[in-house]
Amino acid sequence: MPGQLATPSHTGYAVRTTTLPSAAGRPIPPDVLDRLRSIVGGDHVLVTDGDVEPFARDATPLFRARPGCVVLPATTGEVSAILRMATEHGIPVTPRGAGSNLAAATIPEHGGIVLVLTRMTALKEISGDELLAVVEAGVTTAELADACAAKGLLYAPDPGSRTVSTVAGNVAMCAGGLRGLKYGVTRNYVLGLEAVLPTGEVIRTGGRLWKDVAGYDLTRLLTGSEGTLAVITEVTVALLPMPAVARTGVAYFDSLADASRAVAGVIHDGIVPATLEFLDNRCINAVEDFAKLGLDRQAGALLLFGDDGTAEAVERSLSLMASTCERIGARGVTMARDIAESDALLTARRCSLPALARLAPITMLEDATVPRPRLAEMVDRIDAIAVRHNVVCATFGHAGDGNLHPTIVFDPDDGDARHRAEAAFSDVFDAAIELGGTITGEHGVGAAKRPYLERRLGADQMALLRRLKAAFDPAGILNPGKLGS
Ligand SMILES: Cc1cc2nc3c(=O)[nH]c(=O)nc-3n(C[C@H](O)[C@H](O)[C@H](O)COP(=O)(O)OP(=O)(O)OC[C@H]3O[C@@H](n4cnc5c(N)ncnc54)[C@H](O)[C@@H]3O)c2cc1C
Repeated sequence: MPGQLATPSHTGYAVRTTTLPSAAGRPIPPDVLDRLRSIVGGDHVLVTDGDVEPFARDATPLFRARPGCVVLPATTGEVSAILRMATEHGIPVTPRGAGSNLAAATIPEHGGIVLVLTRMTALKEISGDELLAVVEAGVTTAELADACAAKGLLYAPDPGSRTVSTVAGNVAMCAGGLRGLKYGVTRNYVLGLEAVLPTGEVIRTGGRLWKDVAGYDLTRLLTGSEGTLAVITEVTVALLPMPAVARTGVAYFDSLADASRAVAGVIHDGIVPATLEFLDNRCINAVEDFAKLGLDRQAGALLLFGDDGTAEAVERSLSLMASTCERIGARGVTMARDIAESDALLTARRCSLPALARLAPITMLEDATVPRPRLAEMVDRIDAIAVRHNVVCATFGHAGDGNLHPTIVFDPDDGDARHRAEAAFSDVFDAAIELGGTITGEHGVGAAKRPYLERRLGADQMALLRRLKAAFDPAGILNPGKLGS
């Protein structure tokens, strides 16, 4: 595709961008801009090239489309007025939090308004008695988790992007993270939502109750809807008591397939740990170059294992996992001695993506997921696919969830490198589906994985998605081109 331009993304690693052939960039009519300014104030409507450029892209490489304008509302009432007007005028609206998604889900392919929720930052309530918190859309995941931790409470979803990603962005993508195996993902913690329909009505789904089966479960439907059905303005989440102790260990293996077998062994032994993450040799070396954590550069793979709970339960679970890893053939097992060492190990996993992004101008990360027992097979398939397409591929991921992040790095000036990377990922998705898995475990579909969605869902489900979309958004203005559009 034409129009490539190298830029540093706001998430800190280099991306190259491609202009999508679409209505993107078409100017917003002056009377509409006047209405928007009267709703949110002139300072919160951005129209100049310099101001809107950062919103033409997100953390996904290779995608770019200029919005007509960017609007930053501060209240639910403002969101409602904007959406009502957009529906009246048929103007596309792309909701956006921090723009940290990796699926091109906030690329305004059809131009129009990018609606940024980051001014809605009220942490309204944290209740230890009810074990819940209520936040506005733009509160970051880390702000919520840290505020809960200060009160001895755990907000369990833990995406690697937690310091920047917003809670509503997590809900809209149903973000996962490093604690998925034991604690689940964002959807398991969303009790209720306040959301604005594209036609302007404000709805409240769910609420403060753990049990509530009145009507269709719209909370669950909006969770993971990628900004295509409604704009989320407030989120009520479930909390847990903070575990007394958390500890981490690391086991090194000759190959990622061996590490995958250790994952199966751990689960077979009846342990469901908080953390089971792995990195292949290329990731280990990229992370070591980047963060200098003292990892074993010669190992084919490392498996991070960790658990939380009472001191005795954690001790038991970690020593069981260590002996399972040794039994499966680990070349070395080390336990973190204290919180600082545990944090350093988790850093190794969290910085995998930025570390790999230093290897080449483009870093394409994917999100194929398979049933856990098929993990070793999937890892072998990915290796074979990389060789077949002659691409440099590193793999890391949430091993305990069967959620792999094969990551291809390349220089776009290197002939048909991009084409080879895309062909390799197409084969990776086919392999995942063949093994009973999916094209995305947590990063979402967006524009990036739209071509593969029907392979996963089939034609009948795709048609149902479109009918659901039309019921919520009759004018088709909300994040058009994504999911059910
Ligand atoms: C370094 C790094 C590590 C990451 N690690 C993980 C990880 O471990 N697990 C994981 O799942 N993801 C991860 N991600 C991806 C990303 O952070 C998540 O998808 C996150 O949930 C996006 O939140 P955001 O606020 O940036 O949303 P955005 O990127 O701004 O938006 C994402 C989607 O949500 C929609 N949206 C945003 N706000 C609203 C709203 N208020 N109402 C309706 N729709 C809305 C948008 O239209 C878009 O479709 C990572 C990303 C990076 C860069």
